[in-house]
Amino acid sequence: MTDLETDVIVVGAGGSGLAAAVSAAEHGASVIVLEKREQPGGTTGIAVGSYTAAKTRQQRAAGIEDDVNAHAEDAGKFADSTIEARNNEPLRAYFLDQAADTLEWLQSFGLSFVGPHPEPPNRVPRMHNVVPGGHAYVAALQHALRQHQGKLICQASVTHLLQEADRVTGVAVNIAGEPREIRARYGVILAAGDYANNHQLIAEHKGTAYRDIEGINPHATGEGHQLAAAAGGQLVNMDVTYGPELRFIAPDKTSKRQGLPTHGRSARLLGAIAKRAPKWLTRRMAKRLLVTWQHPENALFDDGAILLNEQGTRFVDETRWPDREIALAQQSNKQAYILLDGELHQRYSAWPHFISTAPDIAYAYVADYLRLRPDVAIRNPGLREVCRQRNLPTTAVENTLRTLNATAKRNAPCPYGRAVCRELQSGPWVLLGPVKAYFTTTEGGARINRQMQVLDADGQVISGLYAVGQNGLSGMVLFGHGLHIAWAMTSGRLAGTHIMHATGPQHP
Ligand SMILES: Cc1cc2nc3c(=O)[nH]c(=O)nc-3n(C[C@H](O)[C@H](O)[C@H](O)COP(=O)(O)OP(=O)(O)OC[C@H]3O[C@@H](n4cnc5c(N)ncnc54)[C@H](O)[C@@H]3O)c2cc1C
Repeated sequence: MTDLETDVIVVGAGGSGLAAAVSAAEHGASVIVLEKREQPGGTTGIAVGSYTAAKTRQQRAAGIEDDVNAHAEDAGKFADSTIEARNNEPLRAYFLDQAADTLEWLQSFGLSFVGPHPEPPNRVPRMHNVVPGGHAYVAALQHALRQHQGKLICQASVTHLLQEADRVTGVAVNIAGEPREIRARYGVILAAGDYANNHQLIAEHKGTAYRDIEGINPHATGEGHQLAAAAGGQLVNMDVTYGPELRFIAPDKTSKRQGLPTHGRSARLLGAIAKRAPKWLTRRMAKRLLVTWQHPENALFDDGAILLNEQGTRFVDETRWPDREIALAQQSNKQAYILLDGELHQRYSAWPHFISTAPDIAYAYVADYLRLRPDVAIRNPGLREVCRQRNLPTTAVENTLRTLNATAKRNAPCPYGRAVCRELQSGPWVLLGPVKAYFTTTEGGARINRQMQVLDADGQVISGLYAVGQNGLSGMVLFGHGLHIAWAMTSGRLAGTHIMHATGPQHP
């Protein structure tokens, strides 16, 4: 039964969906945003919040000269050449050209940014960081949506698109368990995030070996992609993923940042404080962030650290990506621990040997993990005590080390094909983890044009259907930090603008 009608329906209340909804509402549309979870946010809500763009107000204030062509060139240097070869160059260049305007638009809602920070191979600093974190986008846009009388319905999971003739006319949605249909006069915007935690889509497009690897956001299950495909949309680059990577499991406590103001006068004040804060303070804040989400550096393993599963044994060549991540996902509870001996502990206690980094912003060493993440870092002079604290079988760990050390001493081939085995002899021992293998995000999405309209296999517009954020990546390769959120916000802003005057296909 059809029981609601509106101008625009947005599927998903993460960053791109809220941006699309606010933008459409600003252009006079009545808007309903449907969100499957109890609250809005999605991956945007747990993100660090970096936003990378060229020719921004912040760059000008810092005396940085930049241009979007240079940014487009640098954006192509982050992924390896085989992935980069598949990039949708015209669309990425168009997006980068629009990103600074979107940043201005976001600031009009009271959002505050620090930076720009450098991130090579970007030739100049381009990374802007929202204060206090990714959830600020969600709070500010939600507030703006309310001001424009937009409607947000949570616990509303969209299951199907309604189609009449060749046009998408609405959605079928389960609202708190009740099936409903909602019609959209102008169109439906898919903004349902990525499929990092959809094991079936990952297996189908990337290979069954990757099936058991989880997404950092467990709710990133790819419904938007499936809705687009069911309506005849063309999906591209579905095998391209950001990760898998080793990451420490998330802390159980909600970050203290969640309580900080996100927009309006208080956020502007916080932004002003953050801009003027002494370097040690911003570094301290950044460290807290990076011990939460960043991955342990591969150099740890090149230097001799090993991975131990819950049975206390090694199970893979720790230096080989992605075999390491694939094997890790097969271990019990899909998790393992990183063991460092006293020598490695000392080495990873000062520059240039860090456990994790947000490049050029902050670096975290063993002591930072012991202080800020005691749930994933312990140190003890005795191996037995380390094993006891993490419930690892001591005898098995001792046997593992005996085999490793004997192999290293004889210069014999290292088990699991590792090129170099290094002896791990004495404490103080540091055990980091649990670590798991995670996909951070996925890079496949619906093919779209510059109006964010979804295209079918022949490149024809599917009338009434739009895709933004991770749903509308259209083959763009957005590696490096800060481009996913910049795209989520920019595609949302543009979709909201275009949906009110859709005139037909314009291919990038
Ligand atoms: C830990 C972490 C940190 C990151 N940090 C950064 C960063 O600093 N900078 C950056 O650029 N990128 C970052 N990223 C990536 C970036 O955050 C995301 O790519 C981006 O925010 C995605 O925005 P989105 O709107 O497409 O999806 P989301 O923000 O995930 O929103 C999708 C929404 O749709 C909802 N939904 C899904 N299916 C349905 C359905 N069927 N019906 C109704 N609702 C549905 C979801 O619940 C969700 O709320 C990070 C990613 C991770 C995992």
